[in-house]
Amino acid sequence: MRTATIYSLIFFMVFPAISVYSQSQTFKAVLLIKDGSIINAGSIVFPPKRDTVYLTDTAVIDLTIRQNRIFYFDWGGWKSKVFRFDSDCADDSVHKVSLQDTIFYKHHQQIHLCPVCLKSNSLIPIVYGFSSSEMVRQARHNIIRLGGCLVWEIMPLLYCRKDDLEF
Ligand SMILES: [Zn+2]
Repeated sequence: MRTATIYSLIFFMVFPAISVYSQSQTFKAVLLIKDGSIINAGSIVFPPKRDTVYLTDTAVIDLTIRQNRIFYFDWGGWKSKVFRFDSDCADDSVHKVSLQDTIFYKHHQQIHLCPVCLKSNSLIPIVYGFSSSEMVRQARHNIIRLGGCLVWEIMPLLYCRKDDLEF
């Protein structure tokens, strides 16, 4: 009698939790720019497998494939934050991903750590402006990366050679 009461109590405690939170093996996202408009085209970059997939509308990423578990979204050089999953479990909602996510990268610039590999040993600075012969020599030896002469409001400052990521 007492056992039955305990089981029914457990059932009622667990059941509502299952019904409001469901898990998925895919990560779903829509891309938004600052003003809230949806971006209907863009790409998903998977640094571990050096692959880029073009997307339209909702991005659906299969997390059962281990190499898909680190990725970011890119829209004409504007990057989302880097998403990182330790397992193939994601929640079932459609995530709103902002482009560009400069706050996320600002933090990694400050701590001097690549947001993909979480290391600093492959980072080199990006140098802007007219290239001197010394700068060209340093670029050839992977000491710096040349950023070109055009200067925008928000510029990447570091480059990870391992992950081919400017941030
Ligand atoms: Zn890296």
